[in-house]
Amino acid sequence: MATQPHVLVTGGAGYIGSHACKALAGAGFIPVTIDNLDRGHRWAVKYGPLVEADLADGDRLSGVFSDYPIEAVIHFAAYTYVRESIENPRKYFQNNVTNSLSLFEAMVDANVRNFVYSSTCAVYGDPETIPLAEDHPQNPVNPYGESKRFVEHAARWFGEAYGIRWAALRFFNASGADPEGEIGESHDPETHLIPVVIEAALETRPHVKIFGTDYSTRDGTAVRDYVHVADLATAHLLALKHLMDDGAPGAFNLGTGRGHSVREVIASVERISGLKVAVREEGRRPGDPPELIADPSRAAAILGWRPQFQDLDKIVQTAWKWHSGKEK
Ligand code: UDP
Repeated sequence: MATQPHVLVTGGAGYIGSHACKALAGAGFIPVTIDNLDRGHRWAVKYGPLVEADLADGDRLSGVFSDYPIEAVIHFAAYTYVRESIENPRKYFQNNVTNSLSLFEAMVDANVRNFVYSSTCAVYGDPETIPLAEDHPQNPVNPYGESKRFVEHAARWFGEAYGIRWAALRFFNASGADPEGEIGESHDPETHLIPVVIEAALETRPHVKIFGTDYSTRDGTAVRDYVHVADLATAHLLALKHLMDDGAPGAFNLGTGRGHSVREVIASVERISGLKVAVREEGRRPGDPPELIADPSRAAAILGWRPQFQDLDKIVQTAWKWHSGKEK
């Protein structure tokens, strides 16, 4: 008989999933990763076993539930590029929606009831009020956000019918890297602002393009709530414990409640690296709202979640350590 509880982590080889696996292992859980390694990395699976399989493979998926005494599921596996989702919604609905439904079915069949879902602030669409609280209207403006919203709603109905206890964690801008330097962000192509700015500082890309300088923000560039990936990992752990203690299902925003502009991120990378970042000002990227800032008070009140990384420079420092160590 296993003494440590096993948690199935879909997408555990990805950026946020691998950090969640580290947090789980540190808290005495065994994270069992299922990942097709399409966008995840074998090197990122360090804290528990890896089952290399696609969620669309029903036999492999149900096999995981019989091979390991799984007590809960944390579901990261998804495609996450907004632009790609607009160009190829079929791919997004297949992977993010259909495969999530297969996962629910496998959970119900295996009598596994605890489900933590990695959702996104993209479920809200264009903000009507800032900061965004969980009861803000949900009007996703791309298939990525739509797919995430659907799975949240499906979780609710699976909860009502089959007793699945669920928590949907709506991330704002995941950023930074493991403070101990064991894992970090690695996307291909890399589109996220902080790594892109670091690459420009390291001159592995010629410059950073600033998408939009005419927003009605303090310096004309778009403002986002950058939340550290280790804090996101902790939130998953807290959500899991909340469900295991019979806490009520629900959605939780994960952000710091503070916003930083694109120019502020560039200035932070310059401060931390001591290097100059070449910039090119471009037009707005279609679909980008001017400002996204979380109201994280629900996660604080119910889960007891308090992000440790409140300071942009501290977040950038961990990202800098990861990327410069890899690329220098
Ligand atoms: N951004 C930018 N240049 C880049 C990448 C991003 O100006 O090369 C801006 C983008 O328009 C947004 C912010 O930086 O306002 C964060 O973008 P990212 O892609 O990291 O996350 P998103 O908020 O789109 O999920």
